[in-house]
Amino acid sequence: ATPTAVMVATGVGANNGVLIKGGDALERAQMVKYVIFDKTGTLTQGKATVTTAKVFTGMERGEFLTLVASAEASSEHPLAKAILEYARHFHFFDDSSATIDTQNYAKELKSGWLFDVSDFSALPGRGVQCFIDRKRILIGNRKLIVESGIDISSEVENFVVELEESAETGILVAYDDILIGVLGVADPLKREASVVIQGLQKMGVTPVMVTGDNWRTARAVAKEVGIEDVRAEVMPAGKADVVRSFQKDGSIVAMVGDGINDSPALAAADVGMAIGAGTDIAIEAADYVLMRNNLEDVITAIDLSRKTFSRIR
Ligand code: ADP
Ligand code: MG
Repeated sequence: ATPTAVMVATGVGANNGVLIKGGDALERAQMVKYVIFDKTGTLTQGKATVTTAKVFTGMERGEFLTLVASAEASSEHPLAKAILEYARHFHFFDDSSATIDTQNYAKELKSGWLFDVSDFSALPGRGVQCFIDRKRILIGNRKLIVESGIDISSEVENFVVELEESAETGILVAYDDILIGVLGVADPLKREASVVIQGLQKMGVTPVMVTGDNWRTARAVAKEVGIEDVRAEVMPAGKADVVRSFQKDGSIVAMVGDGINDSPALAAADVGMAIGAGTDIAIEAADYVLMRNNLEDVITAIDLSRKTFSRIR
């Protein structure tokens, strides 16, 4: 393609909200064989909401939720925000389904309903840990609870499995080294996700899903969206390794992601595509930025490259 053709294509991309960082990236996209999608915030809307909160001890529901919210208040994770929102509604309205009152949000948050927390730490890919009333509280996935030597009863395990089979994520809560409750979090697929996956397959491109979430939830989401190849329970540093494993036979690999966790994988990919609504670090690491936050633009980007560089035009 001539420099003019590249310039025109870049302009067409920009008009569609597809920002292309350079001619090399534009050229590589035509040869993409695998598109690896991050799950949370990329295939899904990234708007996690708590659907269930179940207490497994005699603890009062309000106390349980305030305990959990206090610990999650220091976390930046989307799951933490969903949990805090749910607990806040329960506390102020005794009804977690009440609509969000954004005007009073900041005021309410500061009005002292949360417990004091010490020694907070975020444990990437697993959850959070801190101390409340000198007792340790752990909130996160199975791995976190098991690694901490805390027993998971079959009653709890069955409840978590049930959530996961319906594509939800089960968040386990241990306080003073006893499993006290489980939260179910749902994050719906983007509306266009399934159609885009089908479209890629028709173009001869194989879609793959990668996530830090557990295998059962990952499989349920993948099935819903029509992806056969899934990699789950991938630690934050591991997503780039997944990209490299697909590149081993010389295949050209695209990665689509939105989070800080995704930036090493976006950089490792031949074609890194960041969701425009994602974090700055992901956007920096990518070759493409999909400004409209619409997965159809993955197809737009590959099409544009094929049309610009194909010899059989
Ligand atoms: P993803 O790749 O899907 O964005 P992450 O690597 O960020 O996932 O997190 C993986 C898992 O770790 C989550 O599905 C959740 O079970 C657990 N987790 C991470 N952060 C938190 C948190 N703040 N509260 C509860 N659980 C968490
Ligand atoms: Mg994500």
